[in-house]
Amino acid sequence: MIIGNWKMNTARADAIALAEAVVGIAHQPATRVGICPPALWIDPIAHVLESSSILLGAQDCIGDQFGAQTGCINADMAHDAGCSMAILGHSERRARFGETSESLLPAVAAVLETGMFPVFCVGETREERESGRALDVVAQQLKPLLKAGLDVSGIVIAYEPVWAIGSGLSATRADIEEMHATVRDVVGRADALVLYGGSVSPDSADEVFSAEGVSGALVGGASLKADKFAAIVAAWERK
Ligand code: PEP
Repeated sequence: MIIGNWKMNTARADAIALAEAVVGIAHQPATRVGICPPALWIDPIAHVLESSSILLGAQDCIGDQFGAQTGCINADMAHDAGCSMAILGHSERRARFGETSESLLPAVAAVLETGMFPVFCVGETREERESGRALDVVAQQLKPLLKAGLDVSGIVIAYEPVWAIGSGLSATRADIEEMHATVRDVVGRADALVLYGGSVSPDSADEVFSAEGVSGALVGGASLKADKFAAIVAAWERK
C-alpha cells in the first residue's frame, strides 16, 4: 500500500491536475495506491478518481456525530464524500493540536464504523530515539487502541519517526525492521499492515522497501509530484 499525504498543499486546480496524473500511474492490482488531499478538495477529487483504482482518504476527522463542532469533519462526512480511509494521529496533528492516541480513540472507532480504514500514525521524536526510548514510545502510542478493544485488524499503522518527516532523513533499515516487528508484537497480529513514512522518495524507496516487514509507505513531500510518486510505486513493485 502506497499512500500520498498531500497535507496543506495544492490550490484547487493543482489538486485536480495532480489527482488526474495519479490516476495515470500504472500499478499492479495487488498494490493499493491512495491519496489524501486537503479536505476541501476531497469532493472534486472523488469525481476524478471515479472508476479508477486509486483510493481516496481524509487527512483527519473526528469521531463525533453531526453537531456543533466548528471547523471539523467527521468520519461519516469523509465516507460520504468517497473516502475509504482516514489518516489519524499524524505527528503534525499530535504536535500542533495536542492529539493523543487516547483522544483519537473515538475517531478510530468512527472510521472503522463507516467501513473505512484508519491509517493510524505513530513515531518517536529524535530525542526519544537518541535516549533509547523509541520502541517504548511507539508501544505506548499503540496500547490505547488495544485497551479500548478496537478491531486492530482493520487498522493500518504508519510508523513515522517524527525526525524523519520532511527532513530528507529516513530511519535505517535495521531500525525500521525492529520497529515494524515491535508494532506487530504490540498489536498481536503478525499480519498487521505497517507502513513506513518519513522522507520516502524515489532515492530512498528501494532501501526502505528492502526492510523486512514493511507493507508500503505513507508519503508526504514526494506525493506532490506525480512522477516521484509513480517512482515510489514502481520501487515497491520491483522489491
Ligand atoms: C508524512 O508527513 O506523512 C510524511 C511521510 O512526510 P514526508 O514524506 O514529506 O517526510
